[in-house]
Amino acid sequence: MNNINNIRNFVIIAHIDHGKSTLADRMLEITGTIESRHMKPQFLDSLESERERGITIKMAPVRMIYTLNAITYTLNLIDTPGHPDFFYEVSRALAAVEGAILLMDITQGVQAQTLAKFYAAQKIGLKIIGAVNKIDLIKDEAEINKKIKELADLIGCRPEEIYKISGKTGEGVRELLESIIQKIPAPQACADHASALSQRESAINARALIFDSFYSDHKGIVACVRIFDGEFKLGNEAKFIATGEKIKIKDLGYFSPQMKSHGELFVGEIGYIATGLKETEKIKIGDTIIINQRLTTNNQRLLALPGYLEPKPVVFVSFYPEDAGDYENFKKALEKLKLNDSALSFEPDANEVLGRGFKIGFLGKLHFEITAERLKKEFNIYIINTFPSVAYKIIDKSRKETLIQNPADLSNEFDEILEPMINLEIIAPIQYLGNVLQLKENFRMQNLSTKNLGERILISAKMPLFELILDFDDRLKSVSEGFASFNYELADYQKADLKKMEILVVNEPVAGLTRIIPRQKLEREARKMTEKLKNILPRQQFTQAIQARADGRIIARETIPAMKKDVTGYLYGGDRTRKMKLWKKQKEGKKKLLSAASVRIPYEVFKKILQ
Ligand code: GDP
Ligand code: MG
Repeated sequence: MNNINNIRNFVIIAHIDHGKSTLADRMLEITGTIESRHMKPQFLDSLESERERGITIKMAPVRMIYTLNAITYTLNLIDTPGHPDFFYEVSRALAAVEGAILLMDITQGVQAQTLAKFYAAQKIGLKIIGAVNKIDLIKDEAEINKKIKELADLIGCRPEEIYKISGKTGEGVRELLESIIQKIPAPQACADHASALSQRESAINARALIFDSFYSDHKGIVACVRIFDGEFKLGNEAKFIATGEKIKIKDLGYFSPQMKSHGELFVGEIGYIATGLKETEKIKIGDTIIINQRLTTNNQRLLALPGYLEPKPVVFVSFYPEDAGDYENFKKALEKLKLNDSALSFEPDANEVLGRGFKIGFLGKLHFEITAERLKKEFNIYIINTFPSVAYKIIDKSRKETLIQNPADLSNEFDEILEPMINLEIIAPIQYLGNVLQLKENFRMQNLSTKNLGERILISAKMPLFELILDFDDRLKSVSEGFASFNYELADYQKADLKKMEILVVNEPVAGLTRIIPRQKLEREARKMTEKLKNILPRQQFTQAIQARADGRIIARETIPAMKKDVTGYLYGGDRTRKMKLWKKQKEGKKKLLSAASVRIPYEVFKKILQ
């Protein structure tokens, strides 16, 4: 049995690209977890989407063994993502450990996500070790010291306590690894339930927190667990408190970083329990697994470890399989994906052109893009999607409040519309302040305030979430030449001047193209859409009017002329009456076409519009 005093559980947290996964690589090497010849950069980024984009999406736990002063330690590391959309991943990793390495790229300094991650780790009382990374890139001693002081000031420690490392060359990594053993406390068995249960009962109990899960073709649903009490062994009967599901443990072990079977997991350890379950709804992230089943259900509930708040989706997009025959597979893929991405929520949806699909709730724009990509890469499901929307609160004339996530559901009769707001924090070098402030109007920022952070400046503002899912990231990056970073959290709902914009083709609104747009952007968006449609809609035998409508008014219009087909071409000479007859027939035909009216927008065209 592992001595609990020789276990250390920790996460690596930092802003995007500050070198978390690369540092993890060096630790895997130093501890001999991965042989050098099998090493590849960002080893723990195993998803195809992660490797292609060079970012971490999923947390990745791994067990390492390291001997210091003749004592052998088990080090459980969890690498984490940096992007704010994946903060829910990070928060779950934080709950499974006792300490954190807060990494900062020395060429970048403290960034928005350095702050956000630090505060989250501090809030739950983790021991935080600061380290500046990429010191191979800077030679200027004064510059190094300045950046170190920046991090030390944030953490509230002395500059001498900050480690100087290079994940690239490996410099300083061994010292940092040893500091984990020296500074991060060993896990402790929880005692909080002992008072609720008799001594005898608690002594034979074991508890584990499910902090992640995934689907394995061979093992079924696998739960990633942190053991908080007792021990779990092969063959044990276990139970999930929230779902009530019972299993017999057929396999358990740890990550190395691949799954490695090991007959038992003890208090303080991090590992996996293969549940053998296939139905994805039987397992819940944040649930507690217990061994003892002789307890009454009430007493079992007392054992529930604090789980996580259910993440709240904020961006809604409908996905439709490109191939309608893929619907069932698509559904199964979403269920499997949800196991590995518990922030995902979905419900069936249908569109007259695109067929059956799902309306999916996401934590942000990147989360949405990554999900579409994972469906393609990991499940071979190609989808088309509608425009992303946020959830609006609608208050009708009788003061009744409803929530809508699909712009088409907005009637024209509402009294007030409220949109979700975010609290935004931007950090930028001071010389870009002017440029960043220029974004204020266009992105409808309010309550702007600034705070000096030495050479950089912290800009706080309130902004509609809608603006974030448009192109705020790109614009901020471009006005700051990539030097600004941001973080946000959901704030409240706020009354707004928004209009429903419909797109009509030959007088019929096209389902799926309806959007809710701020009044000030209405005209521009209307023109953009009608022009785009004009360019991609195929010609018909009749004239097609393309219109944008808001508030019962047409605010933009384009026309696609009719195809001219020479119906009289085969008649030589001057048989005028015959020609007239044919022309008349053609005209009537067109009329008929027009009254049968609605142009069915071809699928391929729809796809182009939404891209
Ligand atoms: P993460 O997003 O925090 O996980 O960062 P990654 O580990 O993916 O690294 C981001 C980029 O920084 C990659 O291109 C790495 O090769 C590079 N990088 C990481 N650590 C170092 C370092 O110590 N020195 C240098 N020069 N580059 C580094
Ligand atoms: Mg990473």
